[in-house]
Formats: sequence, structure tokens, C-alpha cells
Amino acid sequence: MALLEIHDLQASYGAIKALRGLSFGVEQGQVVSLIGANGAGKSTTLNTISGLLKPTGGRVIFDGRDITGWRADRVTALGLIQVPEGRQVIAPMSVYENLIIGTRSDANLQADLDETFARFPRLYERRAQKAGLLSGGEQQMLAVGRALMMHPRLLMLDEPSMGLAPLIVNEIFRIIADIKAQGIPILLVEQNARKALQIADYAYVLERGLIAHQDQAAALQQNTSVIAAYLG
Ligand code: ATP
Repeated sequence: MALLEIHDLQASYGAIKALRGLSFGVEQGQVVSLIGANGAGKSTTLNTISGLLKPTGGRVIFDGRDITGWRADRVTALGLIQVPEGRQVIAPMSVYENLIIGTRSDANLQADLDETFARFPRLYERRAQKAGLLSGGEQQMLAVGRALMMHPRLLMLDEPSMGLAPLIVNEIFRIIADIKAQGIPILLVEQNARKALQIADYAYVLERGLIAHQDQAAALQQNTSVIAAYLG
């Protein structure tokens, strides 16, 4: 059984059917990527899993438990942690405050902070600065650092490279590779399909709320119709 199992997931915004029956899974230690054009339903998929949006049909099973339609705080408490699109750090709060905001009172805060600052030395340098004053890349690191502070059992990343310069994108993907090497499973939503397929084990191509292709990431990179449609 996979750690995360999605069965026939459906979601709508009013009359707009954004997800029309998706099924996929994420196994322990795997990076699974959802790629596809704007509006294909990638963010909606993550939001439906994480409890920000209620599905209109289908099932979300995490670690054998049916969590379909659970509220976001309950999903987070299980260790299913989402880094939202656009990072959504809390601009007027310091880097330090942003990092500790989702942590539990019984957590080993100092050890977690030490680990986070070791991973992101730039966040340590800027720990007292307001998050809103960070660069886009630093804000992305903060958003990922904040998620890691919550000890994810599965990390969901929504467009981590969005709006970032190529060098910073490389840095973000190096960090994602590190997290993967640590054994944390990742569900990665990306428009940068080329980068996503380099790091993923398995990938799904979404098209108008349905899965159009799925395969080992290495195989998808060789798939000529996928290359033509998504990799340019
Ligand atoms: P993007 O990269 O643009 O975020 P995506 O693949 O993540 O693309 P979604 O954001 O999940 O796509 O959008 C799926 C569909 O749902 C699109 O048709 C989109 O217009 C629609 N949609 C998304 N959010 C809303 C919303 N809040 N209200 C109404 N329609 C929405």
C-alpha cells in the first residue's frame, strides 16, 4: 500500500470542474511530480489533499487512513505538510517567528532550528528580518524550512520554482534533492517540467483535471509526445 493513495479525486469551483477523477499514489521515500499546463488542476489537487478545498468525490487515503474532506489542521497534524504556491510567508513577522509558527509546543525547538539554519545559512543570517523583506528565493527557502520544522511525513510542494531566477531555481532543486536524500517523500507540483522530471521518481501529466500520461520520470523524459507538449 502506498503512503498516499488518491482514488478518483474530484473537485469543483462552483460550476467549474477542476478535477474530474484523478487516481495516483506516493510511496515511502518517493518523489512524485504532477506536471501540466496552467489550469490543469495541479494546485487544486494539492489543496484538496491538504484540506484547503473539499473534494466533491473520490478518496484520499494517507497511511491507510481515509482522510477525505478532513480540515487542514487535522491533515497537517498527521504530518502531511503543504508548502503553498506563492510561498505565503507572513510578511510582517521575522524569519525566526515564521519558522516556529507551525511547531508544536512539545517539539524540540532548538534542535529543529539548528537543523533548519544549518540547511539554510541565509535564513540564519536573516533570522531577525521581516520575512516580507526577503528575496523570492529566500522566501521559498523560508516556506520550505517552516514546513520541515513540522516534521513532514509527506511534503507537498506547490510550484517551488515559480517566479525565481534560474540560479535560484537550481538552488531550490538542490534543496529538494537533499530532502529526498533524507528519505522524506515529496509530492511536487511544477510547471518547470524538465526540472521536476530530473528529480522525480514517477510523474503524472495533468490535463484539464485528468491524468493524460503517467510513467517513471526517466521514461517520461524520453516520451516524444510529452516532450513536445510540456518540455519544448
Ligand atoms: P496553475 O499553475 O495556474 O496554478 P494548476 O494546474 O495548478 O495551474 P489549478 O489552479 O488547480 O491549476 O486550476 C484548475 C482549474 O480550476 C482552472 O480551470 C482554474 O481556472 C480553476 N480555478 C482554480 N482556482 C479557482 C478558484 N478559486 N475559483 C474558480 N476557479 C478556480
